[in-house]
Formats: sequence, structure tokens, C-alpha cells
Amino acid sequence: MRVKKAGAGVPFVASGDRHSFWDPASEGMRGMDGDLSLEERLAFGIEFHLNGDYDFGMETETDNFKNISESYSKSSIPATTASQNSVPEMLHAAQCWLEHLDDNPNRVPPVVAKANKPLEAMVLGRTRLIDQNAPGDIQHIVLRLPENFHYVEGQSLSVIPPGISSKTNKPHKPRLYSIASTRYGDLLDGNTVSLCVRKAEYYDPSTGLPDPTKAGVCSGFLCGVRPGQKVMVAGPVGKTMVLPSDPSKDIIMVATGTGIAPFRSFLHRLYTEHTIARQQFTGDAWLILGVPTSGSLLYKPEFDAMLEINKKTNRSSSLTIDYAISREMTNAQGGKMYVQDVLTENAQRLFAKLESGAVVYFCGLKGMMPGILEALETVATAKNIDWPTKLKEYQSNHQWHVEVY
Ligand code: FAD
Repeated sequence: MRVKKAGAGVPFVASGDRHSFWDPASEGMRGMDGDLSLEERLAFGIEFHLNGDYDFGMETETDNFKNISESYSKSSIPATTASQNSVPEMLHAAQCWLEHLDDNPNRVPPVVAKANKPLEAMVLGRTRLIDQNAPGDIQHIVLRLPENFHYVEGQSLSVIPPGISSKTNKPHKPRLYSIASTRYGDLLDGNTVSLCVRKAEYYDPSTGLPDPTKAGVCSGFLCGVRPGQKVMVAGPVGKTMVLPSDPSKDIIMVATGTGIAPFRSFLHRLYTEHTIARQQFTGDAWLILGVPTSGSLLYKPEFDAMLEINKKTNRSSSLTIDYAISREMTNAQGGKMYVQDVLTENAQRLFAKLESGAVVYFCGLKGMMPGILEALETVATAKNIDWPTKLKEYQSNHQWHVEVY
């Protein structure tokens, strides 16, 4: 059986081998029903008809982004789909033709470029993700990848910052960034990647003031890129964070800050795009995101829209999103609310899900794990569960995935 048209036209398939439902070679790039502008797509994802007031940053940057994206889209999509209205037309190009990328025992596509032979990508756009008064700087960056550079959700990209390291007198080493878009990319043409990057700032402990000479090299570079600029990339790498092959598994995602990146890609894949993977997903998804202030919440308009649409479509898979806003919310003890407090408060649900085979992913700063492990041990002990044994069991069952940095 071949899928004639993805998206609304795809029959609902509860579970099973999604790879038997299409023939990428003959189907090609088609099937997407989308009619939003590129900006709306970036803010809300495909099929979101919200009139949001999402801030795309400076107007000139947005215009540049649009111009460059449009010129690229015209040249990179097949003549049969590119026509007068390039951006909306581009949204029609998807979403079966990259489904084969994880159809191998490794469940990830091959590495396209090694870090010592990076390839050139091009910046299409960048937008600040957090409020102007939120602490720090986090940017969403969209890059046009070299041709045939493909990845799957949960993988990372290496970026090699330009210039020479003053410490080693050699070119800078590559830095890894979790990919925040699905394999089809935010432009849905299967040829872009989006990153969610926090600018690493250094504060002098004696003065409390920022010291730009010690600021992060690569994150500083990425958070300042302009549309049209070249970025050297390698990869894709990593298979720790890929989605389970069984579409009936519940997914639990625990993120702090930019750790949201792989989960944005998961959620777009499972709740937004018109793919057979989305049609087949019958598990529940539960995201817990920790940030310092409400102005630091990442991708909230997109997630709100996903929740709204999921409710309307009456799918069997539920989507739950909990936020732990440490400086504004308090936990049961009256202290600051962190992701581990959300887990503790929902311990019953968490353990019930894990015991029924749910897969849990943790992503964000290294410092998040000790607090989480301690909280889970406390909860487990109260339930007479031997936590070290239980944790080993989850790990050996491939239910436990951690990517922290
Ligand atoms: P560097 O230049 O490498 O500096 C590192 C740190 O040292 C900075 O905080 C800097 O301020 C500090 N420093 C510099 N000089 C001094 C000095 N003299 N004394 C004291 N401190 C100093 N990051 C993201 O933002 N988003 C992601 O999605 C993401 N995903 C990742 C996925 C993986 C698998 C891994 C391993 C890492 C990921 N990272 C991510 C982290 C990223 O790879 C970089 O480590 C991060 O951006 C910092 O790199 P940098 O080049 O900016 O900082």
C-alpha cells in the first residue's frame, strides 16, 4: 500500500511498521498541506492558524530572512512544486520522503561530514527566543545545510567557530548543538536545521560584571550570526536521544533551558507535521521544562498551539506540558520550583508510566541531573522501590536517556 497524500490524506494507522506505507522514491516531496508564511511557520509550526504577537526581533532581520529564504526556496525545490507563491508552495513539499532516514539498525543516518572536514552551511535567520528582560540570551538559528545533509530528531550538529584559538594557536574545536527541528526542518524542505543556542557569558566573580574576553566562543558567534553568513558544520551525530521505534510508547521529556531543543523536534514530529510517524504515534507525551523566569520560556507559543490543536483533534495520545519556573513558582516546601519538584509532585504518574514502559529523556545543563536523581531516589524509597536496581532496569530496557552538557 502506498500513501497517495500525506497529512490529512493519510489513513490513521494505530501502530506497526510505518516504513511499509510509502515509497520515498516514487512519492517524492509532496503531501504537505500548509498555507502559512515562513514567519508563522517558525513561530507556530505548520497548520497553526493563530494570530500571535510573536516577536521576530528586528524588522530588518526578519526581512532579510524572508528574502534569503525565498530565494533559496525557489532554487532548491523542484520545478513542479515551486511556483508564483514560493513560501506557501514550499510548505506543500514534504513529508514522506525522509522517513527512511532511521530505517536501519543504527536508527540514525550516516555521518555526512567529519569534524576535521566540515562543510559550509548558510544562516537563513535568527531570532531571540526569550523576552528582552529575561536573563541572558537564547537564539533560535536556522541554517541552510549542504545538499544531502540529513539528520533525524534527537541528533546533534557540530559547529566549528571561525578563527584561531588563542590558547592553542590552532583552529577552534567543534562544539555540539542539539537539533531543534525535525528532519524536514522549519522550512519543511528537508534542507535546513534549527538550533537553540544560549550565549555563554562569563561573570567576573569579584566584580559580578560580565567579562567579554572570557565569553563562550562558539555560542557567542552563533548568537550574533547574520542572514547569509557561512557556518562550518559537521555531523550529524548522536543516537542517545532518538525517539523509540515503537510508536505506542509514552514519551517523558525533562528539559532545562536549551535542553528543550531535541524535545521541540520530537513534539513537532509527533504533534505538528503531517507524517506517518505522527499518525502512528499512540503514546502520550509529557514535557517538563525548567527555566528561571516566565520571560525565559522557550517555544511556548508553539507548544500552546500544539496543546490546543491536540485537544481539538481528539487524538488518543495526550500531550501534557508542565513548566517549572524557578524564580516565580514555589514547590510544596515553599522553595524554588525546579523540574525535579514537578517530577516529585507527579511521582505516582511518573512511576506508573515508567512501569508501563514509558521512555524518559533528560536534556540540558549537567547540573540538572544530581537534583533529579536525588528526588527520584527519595520518591522511590518512599514507595519501597530499590532505586539503584530500578534505575539499572530502566537503563537496560532503553527507557532512560540522558544528554547533558
Ligand atoms: P567556550 O568558549 O568553549 O567556553 C566554555 C565556557 O568557559 C563558557 O561558559 C565561557 O564563558 C567559559 N570561559 C571561557 N574562558 C574562560 C576563562 N578564562 N576562565 C573561566 N571561564 C572561561 N549548547 C546550547 O546552547 N544549545 C544546545 O542545544 C546544546 N546542545 C549540546 C549538545 C551536546 C551533546 C553537547 C555536548 C553540548 C551542547 N551544548 C549546547 C553546549 C555547547 O556545545 C557548548 O559547549 C556551549 O555553547 C559553550 O561553547 P562556547 O564555545 O560558547 O564556549
